[in-house]
Amino acid sequence: MVQKFGGTSVGSTERIKRMAERVMQEKNKGHDVVVVVSAMGKTTDALVRLVSEITSEPSKREMDMLLSTGEQVTISLLTMALQQHGVEAISFTGWQAGIRTDSILGNAHIQAIETGRIKNELNIGRVVVVAGFQGITGDGDISTLGRGGSDITAAALASALKADRCDIYTDVDGVYTSDPRFVPKASKIPSLSYEEMQNLASMGAGVLHPRAVKHAKKHGIPIYIKSSFEKGRGTMIHGRANQNGSTPVIGVTFEADINRLEIFDCNDIEGFQEALMCELASHHIQADVYKQSCRDSLSLLIKEQDLQEVLSILDKEKEKWMYSRIERKGGLSKVSVIGQNIKSQPAIKIDMCKILLENAVRVKLVGESAISVTAVVEKRQVQLAAESLHTGFGLDYEAVMKASV
Ligand code: ADP
Ligand code: ASP
Ligand code: MG
Repeated sequence: MVQKFGGTSVGSTERIKRMAERVMQEKNKGHDVVVVVSAMGKTTDALVRLVSEITSEPSKREMDMLLSTGEQVTISLLTMALQQHGVEAISFTGWQAGIRTDSILGNAHIQAIETGRIKNELNIGRVVVVAGFQGITGDGDISTLGRGGSDITAAALASALKADRCDIYTDVDGVYTSDPRFVPKASKIPSLSYEEMQNLASMGAGVLHPRAVKHAKKHGIPIYIKSSFEKGRGTMIHGRANQNGSTPVIGVTFEADINRLEIFDCNDIEGFQEALMCELASHHIQADVYKQSCRDSLSLLIKEQDLQEVLSILDKEKEKWMYSRIERKGGLSKVSVIGQNIKSQPAIKIDMCKILLENAVRVKLVGESAISVTAVVEKRQVQLAAESLHTGFGLDYEAVMKASV
C-alpha cells in the first residue's frame, strides 16, 4: 500500500514521529509500505520567498532544483524516525524512485515509473519513503510536478505498483461538499467515484490534486482521504458512481485568485484563439479562453500562479498576432457548482444566478461545462458566493442530515 503525508502532517519533528507510528501500524499488519511525503509545513512557500529576494525571473531549472529540496528533508527525517523504532526503511528522491517526467519544468507530468529499485527494497522487507512532487526529465534534470504535486506522486506510485490502496493523510478528515475552512456548514462525503472527485478537484477542491485521480483511476486503485490527527473513516474514492440521483449538485468549489487578461485588436481572432490554446496546453496551463464579440477582443481567465508564464507566452506571440494591447484585471475568483451532466439541466444555471443575485453577489461572467456552472465574482465576495450557493443547493450539513433521516 501507499501512504501519503501532506505538509501539515509532517510540519514538525513531533509530527514526523507520529506519522512514523502510522506507517508502523500498516507495516505490522503485514503490508508492503511505500510512503510519500511533502515538504515540512510551509517550507515550499518559504523557498519561493527566498527566490523573490534574489530575482523576479528565476530560471526554471534552478527553481525546480531548489523546490525539490523541501521533500528531501522530510524523507530522510521520516526514515530516521522509522529506523529509530527498529523498522528497516530507506529514503528515495524522485529520481532514485525511478519517476520519469516530461520536461515542462515547474509543472511536469509523470510519463513512466521504473519501479525496479522500489520493488527490490520492498522484497527485502524495507519501508520505502519517497519524496513527493518531484521526478527526473529525459535530460537528467530534476523536475517538479506543480503545487500540491505530492498527491500525484502517491497515486502514480500506487498505480505503477498496483497497490491495494492509496491512503492520503491530510489536515481534514475527508472530502467535503465545499472547503470546510471557508464554508463551515460543509458536510463530509463518505464516498465518491473517480469522476466525481476529478470534477471537484479540477474546479478547485484543493484537498486532492486532480492529476492524482487520473493515475489512480488508470488501475482502479482506491484512494482514501483521511485525517493525520483524528481517527475516522474519511472519504473513499473508487470506481463506483454514487446513487444520489435526487441531488445533481455534489459540491461547491472555488478558485480564489484569478486574473482576466483581455487582448485587443488581433488580426485573426479565431486563429489566435486556437494557437494560444495549443501553446498554453503545451505548457500544461489551464485557461478559459473566449471571444468578447462586443469588444472584438479575446479574454483569458487564468490562475494567479500562471500569470507570469502566460504573459511571457503572449509577449513572444505579439509580433505574429499583432494585437495592440493587453488589459489585466486581478482580484477575481471563480465559484462553481459541480455535478454530473449539469449542462443538460439549465435550471441549475438559472438557480445559481438567482441565488447569487438574492445574496447581493455581483456576477461578472457565467460559464458552463458538462460538469460545472461557474460564476466569476470579485475576490472579496468569494466566500459569500460559496456559502450562499452551498445553502441554496441544499448542501448544508443540517439539510443533508435531515434528508438522510
Ligand atoms: P496537504 O498539505 O495535506 O496536501 P492541502 O492543504 O493540500 O493539504 O489540502 C487540504 C486542504 O484542502 C484542507 O485543509 C481544506 O482547507 C482544503 N479543501 C479544499 N476543498 C476541500 C474539500 N472539498 N474538502 C475538504 N478539504 C478541502
Ligand atoms: N511541497 C509541495 C507544495 O507545497 C508539494 C506538496 O505539498 O504536495 O506544493
Ligand atoms: Mg495537497
